[in-house]
Amino acid sequence: MRSTDRPLLNHLEREEREVQRRLSVLRRRRPQAALVADLPEGNSVNVFNAALEASAMQHEEVLRRRLADKSQALAEAWEQVREGTYGLCRACGGRIPRRRLEVLPTATLCVPCQEQHETARAA
Ligand SMILES: [Zn+2]
Repeated sequence: MRSTDRPLLNHLEREEREVQRRLSVLRRRRPQAALVADLPEGNSVNVFNAALEASAMQHEEVLRRRLADKSQALAEAWEQVREGTYGLCRACGGRIPRRRLEVLPTATLCVPCQEQHETARAA
């Protein structure tokens, strides 16, 4: 890893901290569903609250999964940093443009390969 890439590594570190922080916030907010379940049934306000809570939990679940994916992608990026292959496209081995890595530090494909990958997946 050349020293000029240090800003990119700092970016990776920032992303990592942010993901960890958001995951820990989500973890702390777990036991709310029990409160709703304890309320008397048949009360429309409670039904409404329960629906709200259910949708909030669904939303959290999506968020949790997205953060877990990101955490995984970051771990892979660090692995590449250690191997000295960070910033190289996994498909063609070409160098991923720095601007792309600045926007998406966990990118493992260059733009043409990413597009090909997405077209293949959509088909
Ligand atoms: Zn490529």
